[in-house]
Amino acid sequence: MRARHKLARRKPARLPPFDALFLDRDGTLVVERGFLGDPKDIRLAPGAAARLRVFARAGTALYIVTNQSGLARGFLTREQVDAVNAEVVRRYAARGVPFAGVLVCPHHPEGAVGSLRRRCRCRKPGTLLHERALRARGLSARRSAVVGDKWDDVGAGVALGAATAHVLTGHGRRERPLVLVRAPDAILATTLADALDQLLSRAPRGRPPRRSA
Ligand SMILES: [Mg+2]
Ligand SMILES: [Zn+2]
Repeated sequence: MRARHKLARRKPARLPPFDALFLDRDGTLVVERGFLGDPKDIRLAPGAAARLRVFARAGTALYIVTNQSGLARGFLTREQVDAVNAEVVRRYAARGVPFAGVLVCPHHPEGAVGSLRRRCRCRKPGTLLHERALRARGLSARRSAVVGDKWDDVGAGVALGAATAHVLTGHGRRERPLVLVRAPDAILATTLADALDQLLSRAPRGRPPRRSA
């Protein structure tokens, strides 16, 4: 026991509840607004920042993963998407929540912009963006979690073997029947704050074993 303590002394006292948390943007981290192109239209999900802070302090790497087909469709410019992402990151950072990365798929198979009109492996439920982030930091998919309002989000989590949570905000209610059929084990949450509370309570290695007196 003593030796193990010595070896582990550089590690935080509490092990992180998850290696990584992959959060959908629209309808999950921010209130759904269709093709969101103006930072002024950003509204953060109520109560989420306080919970995300708990994950961040425990050492969980937080990522935004977002399908932005508005780019392929020609509804949004890269500058608009980047400006919105930067503002979402800034607002969460101001509340003590640091994001490790914002992962964007700009593609769509039926897009109008030639260079972005294609099938890709990064559009959720594809997992390329998640996998790249995990690999870059040597993190485990099985000790990670994915949260979103659509099957696309949950489906990526299922493919990764991560914990999954489906929120009923955004398109969540419309998507609920599909998620229920395809991923019956996904956590059902009314809001992102609720999803984060439930994930914290079932974290794979959240709590150190209780010591007997
Ligand atoms: Mg969404
Ligand atoms: Zn893509």
